[in-house]
This record gives sequence, structure tokens and C-alpha cells, in this order.
Amino acid sequence: MSEKHVYRFGKDENGNNVTEVAGATVDEAKWITGGKGANLAEMANIGLPVPPGFSITCQTCVAYSSAGNVWPDGVLDEIDVYRKDLEKRMGKKLGDKDDPLLVSVRSGAPFSMPGMMDTVLNLGLNDDSVQGLIKKTGNPRFGYDSYRRFVQMFSDVVMGVDGQLFEDAINAKKAERGVKLDTELNADDLKDLVATFKQIFSDNVDPEKYPEVVVDGKPVFPHDPYLQLRLAEQAVFGSWNTPRAILYRKQNKIPDDLGTAVNVQCMVFGNMGDTSATGVAFTRNPADGTNERYGDFLVNAQGEDVVAGIRNTEPISDLPKTPGLEEAGKELYHVFEILEDHYADMMDLEFTIQEGKLWMLQTRVGKRTALSALKVAIQMYEEGRISRETAVMRVAPEQLDQLLHPQFDPKAKYEVLAKGLNASPGAATGAVVFSSADAEAFKEAGKPSILVRWETTPDDLKGMVAAEGILTSHGGKTSHAAVIARGMGAPCVCGVEALHIDAPNKECKVAGTDVVLHEGDIISIDGTTGDVILGEVPLVRPQLGGDLETILDWADEVRKDPARGRVIGVRANADNPADAQLSADNGAEGIGLDRTEHMFLGERKQLIQNFILAESDDVKQESLKKLGEAQKGDFLGMFKAMDGKTVIVRLLDPPLHEFLDNPRDLEVEITKEECAGKDCTEKRALLAKLDSFQEANPMLGLRGCRLGIVYPELNVMQVRAIAGAAAELKKEGFDPKPEIMIPLVAFESEIELVRAGVEKTLKEVEEETGVKLEIPIGTMIELPRAAITADEIGKHADFFSFGTNDLTQTCLGFSRDDVESAFMPLYLEKKIVKRNPFATVDPGVAKLVQMGVEGGHKANPDIVCGVCGETGGDPESIQVYYDLGLDYVSCSPYRVPIARLAAAQAKINSNGGPAKVA
Ligand code: PEP
Ligand code: MG
Repeated sequence: MSEKHVYRFGKDENGNNVTEVAGATVDEAKWITGGKGANLAEMANIGLPVPPGFSITCQTCVAYSSAGNVWPDGVLDEIDVYRKDLEKRMGKKLGDKDDPLLVSVRSGAPFSMPGMMDTVLNLGLNDDSVQGLIKKTGNPRFGYDSYRRFVQMFSDVVMGVDGQLFEDAINAKKAERGVKLDTELNADDLKDLVATFKQIFSDNVDPEKYPEVVVDGKPVFPHDPYLQLRLAEQAVFGSWNTPRAILYRKQNKIPDDLGTAVNVQCMVFGNMGDTSATGVAFTRNPADGTNERYGDFLVNAQGEDVVAGIRNTEPISDLPKTPGLEEAGKELYHVFEILEDHYADMMDLEFTIQEGKLWMLQTRVGKRTALSALKVAIQMYEEGRISRETAVMRVAPEQLDQLLHPQFDPKAKYEVLAKGLNASPGAATGAVVFSSADAEAFKEAGKPSILVRWETTPDDLKGMVAAEGILTSHGGKTSHAAVIARGMGAPCVCGVEALHIDAPNKECKVAGTDVVLHEGDIISIDGTTGDVILGEVPLVRPQLGGDLETILDWADEVRKDPARGRVIGVRANADNPADAQLSADNGAEGIGLDRTEHMFLGERKQLIQNFILAESDDVKQESLKKLGEAQKGDFLGMFKAMDGKTVIVRLLDPPLHEFLDNPRDLEVEITKEECAGKDCTEKRALLAKLDSFQEANPMLGLRGCRLGIVYPELNVMQVRAIAGAAAELKKEGFDPKPEIMIPLVAFESEIELVRAGVEKTLKEVEEETGVKLEIPIGTMIELPRAAITADEIGKHADFFSFGTNDLTQTCLGFSRDDVESAFMPLYLEKKIVKRNPFATVDPGVAKLVQMGVEGGHKANPDIVCGVCGETGGDPESIQVYYDLGLDYVSCSPYRVPIARLAAAQAKINSNGGPAKVA
């Protein structure tokens, strides 16, 4: 059976609806005739007034583009049949000199891409048919205005002539006539402009690119309406692949292989006098969700005038009160109701009123802010239109970020100075500082700052806490700066390569501009978009109300109900009592990862340094004792905040040099001092020691469980602190539930050895305190070997936590710190990778996770499996993890609400979709 390429919509000459639908539902049809085409057909089928027309399918676009802009066999004939059919249905012909048919030619992809692709209006006009239009309307000004608009739009959109040339010609005409407004030009002026525009066409169209329009060696504006139509259809197909459309798809994660439909539809005119109008509207307020009709209209205008903002529009509520438009206005208000009843959602729509008669040109599910999404979902449930599950599906998890962090005032105008990776959401504004110490000093002086660094290190933590936001010129979304900032809920833009930072001299050049930032200069950053702005941008914190809580409660209700499918938990990554409390407040059901190394910073850094560097055993033991006491204090706070809930504490993971000073700084200091004649023997010894801890590839060296094997006393100290805190709290009547996690295991023998040590220490603490502890012991799976041999490793683990940060870098060979800013943008652009694998789990890594889960269960049917890498907070990855059978995901405390919603949606998606109505 040959494929159908064209579908018609609207009525025939007898007033019968002859719509052909491309699928059983609008959602099915939109993949074939695009969102606009599918919804035009749907509106026609529910009896709304839709100007007749036809849609050429998205698949035709794909075939046309992939053949190098060549029409598939037979399609032009098929279109011709539908064109003739449309002429018959309308009783008019394109190009007719008495009563011409005019059509619009519009794009319409499966997903809305507003303004990204092409539209041509008034097609079919030529020197003959303009006379027909004038005859029919008795309005020469209208006729020539429509004609000049068409020549202008066709030349610009279809033939690529610079649009400014036409604007210049209009301005020249207005100057010649001594008038200010386009509307003051009369029919003769507009007729002159048509001639001028045609000349511009001839002078600027490339004859080699468009041989179809060449007459006697020169491009001539095509008189033939069928040629006009074919060129316009080709232009719409071509506009699928313009750089801006490609960019828009990339930003909005729309696949490139969908194509756009072309909708050819009879023109209706909103510019035929005072009983005509055009407008756009939403059935509810898309900004704040208020249940009110929302939108604007313009009397005596065409659609583009509303969008262009040339004239002031009227509020939609005035439409039924406007003389001459009362009936159409009332009908539109009725259409609002019909659309909401039919689609059970907030819709946006475009309409035109031609001489008092209402026509619907488009409808689609309305885009809305997070605030509006929450409110409308709750309203629709309360009105009995949708089920609670559908309400939960109506809010995009990523959108919640808008509500959880401060953002730039949407009314603010600003210019972007540089762009980087949107590493941690929210916006901040403050003075540039180049060191952690300066950030602290600014904080003390009451001045907000932005910490600008090449990349941050654990040393910068205090400054990161003191600053309002963090900006780095290096590193990706799982770089130190990004991970820590997300954990803290601080805005962060990282990997801004344009920044050339000279920290010692406290200045930073911005490549591609002549801006040089100095300490104290005010900048603003937007961690949601990756924008860096010179100067202050005002911030706003959106007001929440209880709507977020309501939707999250509904999400939890679905997520935790075993009757509706497998349950997936949501935990948080937190490493201090305040973050543990915040996690609990945000609804986390436990801590999935406490990175204990974060407890060794600030004043405790000296203690760990003493342990690492001291020659004397006494000093080492003393440092360990103090570290243990400090950690125990933290655990007491965390276990209390999470009383009765799991807290997974990971034994020390990073390479030890991360706690040490940079040997290069010491080397500079020594050189200076030796030049000044000082004796630096001791410092040289220290330098040698510092150097001995350096590693060429620190991520693959002495870290993870290997640390506790080389330095078993570190594990003893940590396990004692964990078990000691738990025993103490149990005695006080609390219900602490710590679990101990061994990081970066590759071999079964590693976990066996480390587990034995941990169990020995636990036993000792139980005997010393007389408290039975029963602390589960598990491991991170973050090396491919661990995932592959999970059936061996699982024999010794009560739980597995998949560390997708390390698993991604070791599986893909992408260094966490270098790859994202170095070549990830290029890899994404060239489609070598579809998504940033550090943000959304890579399919290869997902396979390793699957192997890990299966192997783990083979060895230990009761094993609990979760994810604690950054992808644990990513909605798309959460869907993958739900389907792989994981028991929980763990993410930064600030992402917990997002993960709760995403986990509920994953469950609904994988269990047959939402229930229809409550
Ligand atoms: C991981 O590797 O995914 C993980 C959570 O550990 P970290 O980021 O601390 O290496
Ligand atoms: Mg790791």
C-alpha cells in the first residue's frame, strides 16, 4: 500500500465535515500531520469553525530533506489532487482574476517550535488575482496591502531576500508621502510598493538557486500561484533544518528526525475593517494559573501585527463588548469551554474574525510557568476533568527548579557577557572575588560576592559557602564546583572558557569582548541557563503557596502505593546535619550518600593533613582521634535529623592529595625564600612529601576502598565514629539507621577484606557500649569491573549504590573534570552523544547498572540497589532506573522534590499511563 502524504481538514462545498484524521487520537496524529495539523483536524471534527485546508505529512518532509531536497515520487501529484479538492470545496481558484482563493502555508512539527520555522500568508496573489480580491471586497487599499505583504513575505521567507530592504522601501515611501504610519499609506502608495518590492525581488534573488523564477535570464516574481505554492511548501520543509530550528530542538530535546508538516489553509482576513479582528488567547492564565480567559486581540489586523507588537492590543475580556464583534466574542468564549471540555487541559489558541465571523486557526496545549502548571493541574482535578495521576503528569519535574531557587526578574533586560554550563540552578548577583578568603572577607563586610575560579578545590569550600554564586572557567557538570554548588543549592556556572582568570592579579579578561573584570566589579550569573552578565540583574524568589506540596503529596501517593506498581524511593546526598535536615524537609526518605570527606574540611583539614604528613605515630594517632570525635558529632546531628531513616555513610573516597596544599605553591615560596638567602631544608622535605602524594591521574589512583586497605586505621576511625554515634543515640531512645558504604570496589577480595575490618570494629563498639547495632554494609558500584562481577561482589554486600559519576567516566573514558567543557559541546553538536552522559545516564552505563542489579540479586536476593551519582536527580534517568528495578535514587537535597515527582511519573509511565478521571 502506498503511503498517504496528504490529509484534508474542514468542510466541503455542501457544509459537510470532510476531515481525514491521521491517527486515532490527536497525540497519534501529531506525529504524522504535526501538532498544528492534528489539532486543526480535531477542531474541525468537534464542530469548531476551521478554515478548510490540507496538511502534508512530517514524513514527507523527512523524505524530501534526506533525498537532498527532492520530492518523493508521486507526492506532487497527490498534493495537486488536494489542492484541486480545496478549490472545489471553496468554489474558488488560486490566482483567479474575479474571486481568487488565497491560502496560508504554515509549518507545524509534532512539538511546538514557536516562531522557529516558516509561514507564508496571502499566497495566490498576483497582478490578476489582486484585481479579483479588490473586486470582491470593494477595497483597493486592502487588496494592495495584502499583495505587498505577500510579495514581502514570500521574498523574505521563501527566497531568502533580506527583509530589511522591504522595510527600507516602506520607510522611503512614508518619507516621500510625509506620513508616519503604515496605515496612512493609501492604495496607490501600496500599489507602488508592490512594484518596488518586485524590483527588489529581481535584484536580490539568486538565479542559480531558484531557476524556476528566472525569465529571460532574470529572476521575476512568480505569477503562477501553483509555482508560488510549491516554492512555499519547499521553504517550510527547508526551515526544519535552519540553524535556529536545530538549536531550538537541541535546547528543548526535540529529536532532529521528526520533520515538520506543511499546512495549506484558506486565508481568512482579520484586516477587513472594524468588524474584523485577530487574536491569541489561553483558556487560563499561563503565568500564574488563575482560572480566567487570558489573551489579546487587535481590531482590523492580521496575525503578524499582534505578534509584532506594532499596535497596542486589547484584552480578550473586552472582545464581547466591542461594537461589531459582540457575537463573535461570545462565540469565542463558548469555544474556550468546548476546548477545555474536549482536551481537559489549558489550551492556547489563535483566532481571526472576518467580518463578524469567528474562525479558529490553531489550538494546542498551552505552555505555562511552573506556578501555572501546578495551579491548573490542581484546578482541573478539582473540576473533575482529570485524575490525580494525570495532574501529577501535568507538571514537568525540571520546571520545579524555577520554584526552588531565586531567578532573574523576568522583566529585567540584560545582555549576556559570556556563557558556560548551567551547572547549578538559580541566579545570583554580587561582586567578583578571586579567592575563597576574599569571598569570606566580602561576606564579613556584608557585601554579596561571586567566587570566580579556574576550578574549585575542596580548599575553596568556605569561600563557596560565603559567596552568593560560583563561576568557573573550567570543569563540567560533575566538576567539584558543580557538585558542591548543587549540594549547597548555590547557583553555579562552570566551564566558561571565555574567562581568562589571573587570580594573583585579581583580574579576569573576557575573550571576545574588551571587558576586564576586577575584584569588586558587580556581575550576575544564572545557573539555570549558564549566562554571565556584567552588572546587577534584579532577582526574584517566586512565591509558592501550597500547590507544590499538594502535587508532591499526590506524586508520593502514587509512588509509594505498591498496588500501582513497583515502589521507588527518593533519598538525598548530604554530609552535614543542616543538609540532612533540609533533605528531610524536602521529603527525602533517607540519605543515600554521605561523602565523609566533606566532613574533613575547614579547621579539620589541618587534622587530616597531620595524619597524612606526620612522621610521628603519636601525632598521627592524636589527629585521628580528633577527627573521629568531630565526625561522631556530625553523625549524631545527621542521624537525629533522619531518625528512623537510612543514612548511608561512605568511607573516605578521594585521593589524599586533595587534602594537602598545592606543592607548586610551596615550591614558589621556597624559591623566593632561597633567593633571599633563607634556609628551607624543612620546607624542601615537606615539598618532597607533598610531591610523593601527587598522582598523574588522581581519579584512577590511591582512592576509594584502596585508601582503607593502605591505611586501615582510617576505616577504624570512621567506623568507630559511625557506630559510636548510633550506640549513643540508641541509648537515648532514638532510632538511628546508619549503613556503611565501601567506595570504588573493583575486586571481590577488596570488599571481603574491607568488610571484615568494618565488622571487626563494629563488634568492638557493640561490646564496648553494650548496644546491638546491626549496621548493614554495602558498596558503591562505580567501576565497570564491579558491575560486571556484581554476582561475586554481591556476596559480600547488603546493598549496592551505583555511583554513576565515576561509572560514567570509567565506562566512557571521559574524565569528569575535563571533558564537559573541553569537547562535550562539540560531541553534542555532532550528535556523537545524544545527551551529556554526566547529566543523563548514558545507555552503555545503564547496561552496566542493569548487569550490576542482576548480578547483585543473583548473589543476594535481598540486596537493596540505588543510584547516588548526579543522574539520580535527573528525570529522564529516573525513568531508566525505575525500569531497571532500582529501589531508590539519591540526589542533592534541592532536587529531592524534582526526583519525587519524576519517580512518580516514571512509575505511571511504566504502568500503563495515568488513570483517565478520578
Ligand atoms: C559517583 O561516583 O557517582 C559518586 C556518587 O561518588 P563521587 O561523586 O563522590 O565520586
Ligand atoms: Mg564516585
